[in-house]
Amino acid sequence: MRVNLLDFDAEGLTDWFAQQGEKPFRARQVLRWMHHFGEGDFNAMSDVAKSLRAKLGDMATVSPAPTLSDKLSEDGTRKFLFDVGNGNAIETVFIPEGERGTLCISSQAGCALDCAFCSTGRQGFNRNLTTAEIIGQLWQANQALGHDPQGERIISNVVMMGMGEPLTNFDNLIPALRLMLDDNAYGLSRRRVTVSTSGIVPAMDRLAEACPVALAVSLHAPTDGLRDKLVPINRKYPLAELMAACQRYLRHAPRDFITFEYVMLDGVNDGDADARALLHLVRDVPCKLNLIPFNAFPNSGFRRTPADRIRRFASLLIEGGLVVTTRKTRGDDIDAACGQLAGQVLDKSRRVQRAAIPIHISLASGVAR
Ligand code: SAH
Ligand code: SF4
Repeated sequence: MRVNLLDFDAEGLTDWFAQQGEKPFRARQVLRWMHHFGEGDFNAMSDVAKSLRAKLGDMATVSPAPTLSDKLSEDGTRKFLFDVGNGNAIETVFIPEGERGTLCISSQAGCALDCAFCSTGRQGFNRNLTTAEIIGQLWQANQALGHDPQGERIISNVVMMGMGEPLTNFDNLIPALRLMLDDNAYGLSRRRVTVSTSGIVPAMDRLAEACPVALAVSLHAPTDGLRDKLVPINRKYPLAELMAACQRYLRHAPRDFITFEYVMLDGVNDGDADARALLHLVRDVPCKLNLIPFNAFPNSGFRRTPADRIRRFASLLIEGGLVVTTRKTRGDDIDAACGQLAGQVLDKSRRVQRAAIPIHISLASGVAR
């Protein structure tokens, strides 16, 4: 079988070239063609020796996952569906916002972590995406979106906030992140690449060592009791450990801050007492709070907090000294908003069958005030 060169970062490609008896500068040339220029055809790589082009044509490919659909929202948000084989498909969302163009990338087909309010989690888990499938989303979206009149790429930022938990797919994630930062590939600055995690503590430490990009942590609850129910991985890595891991992370990126994401669920985590507990929880972590109005999906069992309550919650946090933003809901007319990405997942975890008793519904009514 031919090797998919999108699976390699610069180091991996250099090693593979060395195994074929090729020099490191050749690897760099090909990397630049593939990622900087978005070229998938070896024959078009004009400054690469003809003999090497032929050799690559025999041994290798440049194969991102093929596009199944490409939908445009009224607000300019664009959602791509990519075929990752065997009946699975993943979603990638482009969100234009003024000067900035953010691509929201998936890391897994489905997600094993089963957060109560998340459509991806509801679908169960099939498998980790390969490095080629992760970086291929950026490759494909760059092809589709191109450059602005000044010659700058339309995609200026990447967030790993699509389907899946990126830090449980660590080994495939890191080469993809390195390509995003590599000047011969996408050349994004460290702060324009964000990994969002539900709080996989040991992998946060590994990320700090391997590739300390911007970190967003999905908090969603200020106490272990509530977070255990909403974000079940909390039972393994409770809040005290998570906060300590955030502080350790920032030692590798001293001028940075953690972005805490907090989904606003009506009557569940949005009371005044929750805001006060939240202020107390994050007091020792340099951070910003990003409130996300809950985005509904069929039978979610939750409702979005009303806008005036979100404003009240935000103002309590601001009075307490936090920097707070409320995420605008984008692309919900094409089911592209946060937490709505479902793609197509052949569930191997049999979650849907196991969850015959709708836990989320009893949870929502159980803790409602
Ligand atoms: N698995 C990672 C990244 C993907 S989810 C994580 O959990 O952080 C990206 C963000 O969307 C997370 O903060 C997640 O909690 C949030 N989210 C999930 N479902 C949502 C929903 N229905 N409405 C709003 N945000 C949601
Ligand atoms: Fe997985 Fe993130 Fe959804 Fe939780 S919120 S189920 S970790 S994708």
